[in-house]
Amino acid sequence: MPANTPEGPAAPAQEDPSRRPDIPYQRVLEGQPALVTGANSGIGKAIAIGLAKAGADVVVNYVTDPGAADDVAHAVEAAGGRAMTFQADVSREDQVAAMFTAARAQFGTLHIVVSNAGLQRDAPFEQMTLDQWNTVIGVNLTGQFLCLREAVREFNRRGPDKVVSAATGKIICMSSVHQQIPWAGHANYAASKGGIDMLMRSLAQEVAPRLIRVNAIAPGAIRTPINTSAWDTPAAYADLMKLVPYKRIGEPDDIARAAAWLASDAADYVTGATLFVDGGMTLYPGFATGG
Ligand code: NAD
Repeated sequence: MPANTPEGPAAPAQEDPSRRPDIPYQRVLEGQPALVTGANSGIGKAIAIGLAKAGADVVVNYVTDPGAADDVAHAVEAAGGRAMTFQADVSREDQVAAMFTAARAQFGTLHIVVSNAGLQRDAPFEQMTLDQWNTVIGVNLTGQFLCLREAVREFNRRGPDKVVSAATGKIICMSSVHQQIPWAGHANYAASKGGIDMLMRSLAQEVAPRLIRVNAIAPGAIRTPINTSAWDTPAAYADLMKLVPYKRIGEPDDIARAAAWLASDAADYVTGATLFVDGGMTLYPGFATGG
């Protein structure tokens, strides 16, 4: 048991699984095909499965590891949804277009697009190569542009379907707390997520009259392969907790539940918003004791 400090309990060195409630999903997305990019790992995988638990059919996008994508597709089916997998590099215009064509052929249309695929190529700024810069911007920002553009084109083509949803289409961009928190050694990643904020809000403004809702989720520290070194030892976990006022790491399913809500009619009046799901990481925890 860590010793208490004047500010409250010290950062826990280990997780306490009982901290996370297990609430059943409501089936509020019945009849709404969804596409999730980067859906064979981490947050995207949890979102694909979470949307299926909420009643959606799911296109599971992946770029490497088709076996992992198949596993997610099976989990989608086990949750009662139809599933298809599709290999596409989201930074490639032709591959993104082919993916949306295949999704339409399989499911007729899409109602929900979750633009989640992302990566990091970290380096001290003066050592960052143009390739590291371009790779991160290409996937995290241009990749979302390409997917969002295809989503809007498909929603325009289909038009409203009020039986299924009040909105003609729902887009969710995966951002990060680093759209707000500067991140030394990760300038390319932070720039890509800062770009997502204005991409998301500008598009939300543009397509709101067509009843297309565009929002973002900004996760804090979530337990996925992208950041294993930040949580996989007790020392790293305790260090991470100094940045998390709520004193537990986020699980991918924490993000999936936010995505299911944002995609549902329960969030019908929400557009152009970024939902921070971060256990308070953006609350400047270093100032909790008065600065
Ligand atoms: P992850 O590495 O487990 O998953 C990333 C996924 O994106 C993988 O499936 C990967 O194959 C896919 N991907 C990468 N490049 C791609 C490409 N060119 N085309 C298609 N797919 C591609 O990491 P994650 O933590 O699940 O990250 C998912 C998203 O969440 C990312 O956008 C990331 O920036 C964001 N995020 C994660 C955290 C966190 O703490 N884990 C925090 C904030 C934001």
